[in-house]
Amino acid sequence: MNIAVYPGTFDPFTNGHKDLVQRASTNIFDKVYVCVAENSRKETLFSLSERINLAEKSLIDLKNIEVIGFDGLLVDFAEKLNAKVILRGLRVVSDFEYEFQMSSMNKKLNHNIESIFLTPSESYAFLSSSLVKEIAELGGDISKFVSSEVKDALQTKYK
Ligand code: ADP
Repeated sequence: MNIAVYPGTFDPFTNGHKDLVQRASTNIFDKVYVCVAENSRKETLFSLSERINLAEKSLIDLKNIEVIGFDGLLVDFAEKLNAKVILRGLRVVSDFEYEFQMSSMNKKLNHNIESIFLTPSESYAFLSSSLVKEIAELGGDISKFVSSEVKDALQTKYK
């Protein structure tokens, strides 16, 4: 079984995340674990359980996917799940430096696990959770960028 973990903050889960997971789980991996980080560098708008719940609802129509929360070292968590690959998305040049640093460190921590990067589909290249939050806060239409559950959750937060 070819298993990947796709870690992130997912605050909240967007169609860009989904596009990446969908391509990975249908074309490349037998199973993709979407790993929602508890202990993030970022302060989040949604709690861990809200972020897990919204990711699950956004991915309801896809197979070979499981959403789980995690805390602690990603490479240890990946090993427990028998995953050999860490999947990440690379959108723009500014993503590169941090991703490069992190994948090099993960490689040092566990040389059996590889990081693999997918570029977004063209229509999602500009899409990020923070941009979606900003638009939602300003009352803009985000229905093209997130699932209806995420849209509702954002509207409730910013009411
Ligand atoms: P993190 O805080 O770990 O960066 P994010 O939830 O922001 O978590 O993103 C998780 C992963 O999804 C990252 O690898 C990010 O580059 C990728 N990603 C985010 N948005 C998109 C998108 N629109 N298209 C492709 N990949 C994306």
